[in-house]
Amino acid sequence: MIFHETVFGPIHSRRLGTSLGVNLMPNDGKVCSFDCVYCEAGLNSQGAGRDGIPSRHAVHRALDARLRQLQEAGETLNSITFSGNGEPTLHPDFKAIVEDVIRLRDRYYPTAAVTVLSNATMAHKSDVAAALRLVDNNVLKLDSAVARTLRLVNRPVSHDINPEAIINNLKSFAGQCIVQTMLLRGSVDGEPIDNTTAEEVDALLEALAVIKPRLVQLYSIDRRPPLDTLQVVSRDDIEAIAARVRAAGHAVQ
Ligand code: SF4
Repeated sequence: MIFHETVFGPIHSRRLGTSLGVNLMPNDGKVCSFDCVYCEAGLNSQGAGRDGIPSRHAVHRALDARLRQLQEAGETLNSITFSGNGEPTLHPDFKAIVEDVIRLRDRYYPTAAVTVLSNATMAHKSDVAAALRLVDNNVLKLDSAVARTLRLVNRPVSHDINPEAIINNLKSFAGQCIVQTMLLRGSVDGEPIDNTTAEEVDALLEALAVIKPRLVQLYSIDRRPPLDTLQVVSRDDIEAIAARVRAAGHAVQ
């Protein structure tokens, strides 16, 4: 499902409440440094489209207009959330846009959070890391600390991306981050995947011990994924993993 606008929603999010989306990637295609098998925006093979990415000015104009409209209508808003058709930190003006969004939030909805959903692949860049430190919810993906699983589930575009690189990026926030893990089973290109096994959870706990996130979010597939060979992990199985993560001293949602 491609988002066709730079500012979309608000939508109701289980974790964020009423959330207004900001899509820094094209409105007619997808651009991401991962190509996750469960991506709600679809697979990278659909292409990047023709529109290109929105300028900083276009994002500011669209968000300003939408926030004013929502405020005048008396709507509540809990979060302004960077998400959409790919990885927001790939935008070359990401930091300046984050600063604009924080200023607009302060003007229209000072109690709303600014949230970024990122795969952390660009977080080694100083300007991206600095921008992620500014936001209220720096939500970073870590689906697996096992190289084979990350390769099959997240399918990084660059060969340089592996669990060590991602974990190092997450660690650099010194706890100022939320780790988000999508739990799933099934197969990808005929290869079995399951990031709920004891070995996977052990590796995840080792990674969390060095990242020390302020929160861990565990979830499973919510909408129909692009691949029909994936299975939803049951609430009971998610809770069993959550119990292990809590026992290791982490807050879990
Ligand atoms: S990192 Fe996010 S946007 Fe990119 S492919 Fe994965 S789920 Fe989709």
